[in-house]
Amino acid sequence: MQFVVGQQLREPLGSVTHYEIRESNHLPEGEDFLGELTGSVDLMRTDKGILASVVIHCTIAAKCSRCLSDISYPLTLAFDEEYLPTMDASTGEPLPLPADPDAFLIDSHQVLDLTEAVRQYRLTTEPLQPLCRPDCLGLCPRCGYDVNQGPCGCPGQETDARWTALAELAVKIEPEQES
Ligand SMILES: [Zn+2]
Ligand SMILES: [Zn+2]
Repeated sequence: MQFVVGQQLREPLGSVTHYEIRESNHLPEGEDFLGELTGSVDLMRTDKGILASVVIHCTIAAKCSRCLSDISYPLTLAFDEEYLPTMDASTGEPLPLPADPDAFLIDSHQVLDLTEAVRQYRLTTEPLQPLCRPDCLGLCPRCGYDVNQGPCGCPGQETDARWTALAELAVKIEPEQES
């Protein structure tokens, strides 16, 4: 997601350029977005550089954190970030780098690249442990079977209190039957 902002940097303070995003070729390379990315980007000229106001709707491909099945979920990213120029748009002279090493920069070709900001905001927005459904039972820790498909038959797998109670009852009954 790159925008050439040389012209924008020569415009008066407060002027806004609006972009609609609705193309799969805006996908950052190597990302796990599915299908189309939609949304909008407003680039506003500020006294220091350009303020990017970004709203992106996308679908993320992931694996359920319990059963590892393939899932996808919608995600909306919304953020404002100011990008600082490294080259004077009028004279072409290099500008001193900002004191903040984490500041987002417009490169020497006047390209404003949103990729890194999108990556960072994704990390803070997306769920740490996505699930295929809220009550996913996950995999058996012993044999790796997907317990959503049914019990795997491993001994000691049942932790349900009702089964424990039945098992205790069976132990009590058996000696009486033998006598
Ligand atoms: Zn699952
Ligand atoms: Zn098992």
